[in-house]
Amino acid sequence: MRELRFDPIRNRWVIISTERARRPSDYTVANNQTNTIDKNAIACPFCEGSEDKTPPEIFAIRRNQSKPNSPGWRVRVVPNKYPALQIEDGAFRYATGIFDVVSGAGAHEVIIETPDHNKGLGDLDVDWITDVLISFRERIKDLFLDPRLRYVLIFKNHKAQAGASIAHTHSQLIATPMVPPVLKQELTVCRENYRSKERCLICDLIKQEIEFGKRIAYETDDYIIWAPFASSFPFETWILPKKHLYNYALLNDDGLSKLAYTLKLNLLSLKLLLNDPPYNFVLHTSPPKFTRPGHPEHWDSIEFDYHWHIEIIPRLTTIAGFELGAGFYINPTPPEVATEYLRDAINSYAGKTQEKKISLDR
Ligand SMILES: [Zn+2]
Ligand SMILES: [Zn+2]
Repeated sequence: MRELRFDPIRNRWVIISTERARRPSDYTVANNQTNTIDKNAIACPFCEGSEDKTPPEIFAIRRNQSKPNSPGWRVRVVPNKYPALQIEDGAFRYATGIFDVVSGAGAHEVIIETPDHNKGLGDLDVDWITDVLISFRERIKDLFLDPRLRYVLIFKNHKAQAGASIAHTHSQLIATPMVPPVLKQELTVCRENYRSKERCLICDLIKQEIEFGKRIAYETDDYIIWAPFASSFPFETWILPKKHLYNYALLNDDGLSKLAYTLKLNLLSLKLLLNDPPYNFVLHTSPPKFTRPGHPEHWDSIEFDYHWHIEIIPRLTTIAGFELGAGFYINPTPPEVATEYLRDAINSYAGKTQEKKISLDR
C-alpha cells in the first residue's frame, strides 16, 4: 500500500508506505542495528561491477560510451528498490468519511554519486560533483513532464544517524503528487511577500545578509554560504545563489560547476570541523508549473517570487519530545558563532596544501 492521507487537524499530508516494514518485528531489527555504517564493500549494490544488484538504470553519466547497467559510469540513477511512492500507481483522489486520500503516484530514485565505495560527496573533485548536480537537473527536467507530479524533492542522508541505510555515497529523489508541507509553506510565504511588495523575499534577505556579514561563511561571485538567522540546528547552512532564479533545473553546466565548488567547500568544512558528521541536505526548487482547472493562479508568479537554494543540516542533536510535540527547535550554537568556525575551516582547508588548492580553484 502506498497512499497519501490528509491530517485534518495538523493540516498536512502523510505518506503511508508499507514497502519496507510492516510487522512489529521488522522495527525491532532496525532498532537493534548499531549506529556505525558497514564499511566493507562486499555485497554493496552501489559499487562498480554490482550493476545487476539494482533495478535497471534510469539515467547515467558514463565514460567511453560504456553500455547501460555495466561498469564504466561516473554517476548512476536507479529506482529505489523499496520505493515510498511509485509512478505506476496512478493518481486518484477519494474521501473516506472526513478523511482525504490520494493514491501514491510518484517516483523514488537513488542517485549513486560515484563508483568509489570509500568517498563522500565532498571528497569528490569539482568536475565529479558537477556531474552529480547535472544528474539532479536532468532527473528534475524529466519528471516535470509528468502532470501527475506536483513536486520533485532531492535530498541526501549521510551516515546511518542521518537516515542512510547503505554506506556507499548516494542522494535520493522523491517525486510526490502533492507539494510537501515544508515546501508549501516556504512557497506560500514567498508568494505572499511578492504579492504585497513585488520583490523576492530571498533576494532581499541575501542583500541584507551580505551587508551585515556576520552570518556569511563564504562568498563567491555567484553563491553565498549562509548560516540562517533563525537556524533550527547547530551549524545549519544554506547555499544561496546571488542571482535570482526560481528553478534549479534552468542552471547550465557552468552554473552547476560553480555550485559544485561551493558545495564541496561547505561539505569539507563540516567534515573538518565536526569530524565527518552525519548530515542531510535538501534541494529546494520550484514545483512544475502546470495550469490546473480551478486553480488559474496556481504558482503563476513563481518565476519572480521563489529563489532556489540548498539547505545542509548536520545531525548533531536529536529531535526529542519537545521538538516533536511543540514544533520548536532548540539550537545551542548561534549562527553567528557557527559562521566564525565555518569561515576558519573553509579558509584553512582552501589554503592547506598547494595541491588541494589547485583542485579547489577552478
Ligand atoms: Zn559500494
Ligand atoms: Zn530572488
